[in-house]
Amino acid sequence: MITVVWFRHDLRVQDQPLLQRAAALGAPILPLYVLNERWTRPGPEGFDRLGPAKAAFLQECLEDLAASLDTLGLTLSTALASPAALLSHWHQSTPLQVVTAQADAPEEQQDIDTLRAEGITVHEMDTRTLLSSCALPWDDAFPATFSRFRKPVERRGGPPVPATEGASPRLNAADSLPLPEWAGSVVGALGVRRGDWQRDPQHYFSLHGGEQAACHWLQQYLFEDHHIGHYKTTRNQLIGTGYSSRLSAALAWGCLSVRYVWHSILEYEQKFGGDQNSYWLRFELLWREFFYWSQREHGAHVFRRDGLKIFHKTTSMKPGEEDNASCYWQAWCAAETGLPFIDANLKELLATGYLSNRGRQNLASFLVHDLGLDWRQGARWFERHLVDHDVASNWGNWAYIAGVGHDAQGGRRFSPTRQWWRHDPDADFVRYWLPVMNGLSRQQILQLHFAFGDEPGWQGYPAPVISLPESDREVT
Ligand SMILES: Cc1cc2nc3c(=O)[nH]c(=O)nc-3n(C[C@H](O)[C@H](O)[C@H](O)COP(=O)(O)OP(=O)(O)OC[C@H]3O[C@@H](n4cnc5c(N)ncnc54)[C@H](O)[C@@H]3O)c2cc1C
Repeated sequence: MITVVWFRHDLRVQDQPLLQRAAALGAPILPLYVLNERWTRPGPEGFDRLGPAKAAFLQECLEDLAASLDTLGLTLSTALASPAALLSHWHQSTPLQVVTAQADAPEEQQDIDTLRAEGITVHEMDTRTLLSSCALPWDDAFPATFSRFRKPVERRGGPPVPATEGASPRLNAADSLPLPEWAGSVVGALGVRRGDWQRDPQHYFSLHGGEQAACHWLQQYLFEDHHIGHYKTTRNQLIGTGYSSRLSAALAWGCLSVRYVWHSILEYEQKFGGDQNSYWLRFELLWREFFYWSQREHGAHVFRRDGLKIFHKTTSMKPGEEDNASCYWQAWCAAETGLPFIDANLKELLATGYLSNRGRQNLASFLVHDLGLDWRQGARWFERHLVDHDVASNWGNWAYIAGVGHDAQGGRRFSPTRQWWRHDPDADFVRYWLPVMNGLSRQQILQLHFAFGDEPGWQGYPAPVISLPESDREVT
């Protein structure tokens, strides 16, 4: 009997319950990462789930994990395959048990259920959450809104299980198992998708994948640069290095445990004093937590167009706009909607795999409430490109803005012009991503947002694909 530690979104060795449980089971350990072949298949819009920046980030995470495991005496096996098929195949010749995280999404649950049906024992652990699944502070019904979730969690004093320090000692390694011929190479698949994507060395911020880089950045963000000290006042900015924590990708891939992050913030508060800024970073981690448990509760409903049906909203296209859907979608994918603020955000996403929260909210609002497209197209676009893609946070936030999730107000439209005027006061953000705007004043850039029906304007920049409401002109 061997124990396969099946890593998914927990690519670290510190504060790692999977390794701790595997060590306690006593059998030789085989660490495994399977790049799910479903991720490499095109979805309804014809693209897969691994955009270039995301593929590069995952590649770095896996290299870092392999190096860390090596120091524990373990060799990481990787494969491009269906995880359930691979593990079942191995189990036929080598009896195995599996230690893995709780499923994030229904398709992961199906894999775990398939393994159990094959007679494989699967030990599921909480690796991604602040709360523990055996001690949730609500009874039958999952809270309908974030505040109804947050209050009881905060009353309990935050995460019940403190982060445990340090990695396990050297572990008992199993020999690696031969890959079946139908399994592919992860390095190859990620390399193809990464293509010639490179980080822009001129870019103001760039986070590498992996536990080491993430730990280093957390220390720097909190204890060296003290950026947390202005978090609440700057978190809505669009451009710069420390306006928000940039921990999302490390948390999404599990390079850092969220409990470790939480306790590091508490440590900061003890050393330097807590205030509304440090509290607000923990507050935002509770949003992540909320969407995670909502996803667990609502399962496949999260992926339906009419969503969770908590507040009974349905979305549809505006009358007469169906014919334009394909042209709107093409403009979105090419980052050429003709609205400078929207295009700047789309370009940042494509170039870096990251986007500020403000940018995400505006893109989602624009796609749903201005273009009238199916919100799930936007969610899939984000899933492909975001280096921090997290199924619960992404789909939960999109559903929220579309009005089919947890927003009691039934969805949010953000005026792209008012938002831009307010959050990009010197137009630095738009000019950075659309250098063609460099010769224009802020007022002139604003006017471009209303040039619907005109010929391409300033240096061939396209005219807007839609006409914004007149009220969007009132920016001050
Ligand atoms: C349409 C849309 C899609 C999104 N998709 C994702 C996604 O795929 N993955 C993801 O991690 N976040 C997603 N978010 C949430 C949020 O935008 C990002 O977590 C945040 O911008 C990441 O930057 P940061 O780490 O600097 O965040 P900070 O502002 O520093 O926040 C700290 C952490 O709190 C969590 N957090 C903050 N805001 C939210 C939120 N609204 N919902 C859930 N968690 C939050 C994240 O883990 C984040 O790293 C999405 C938001 C929207 C509006």
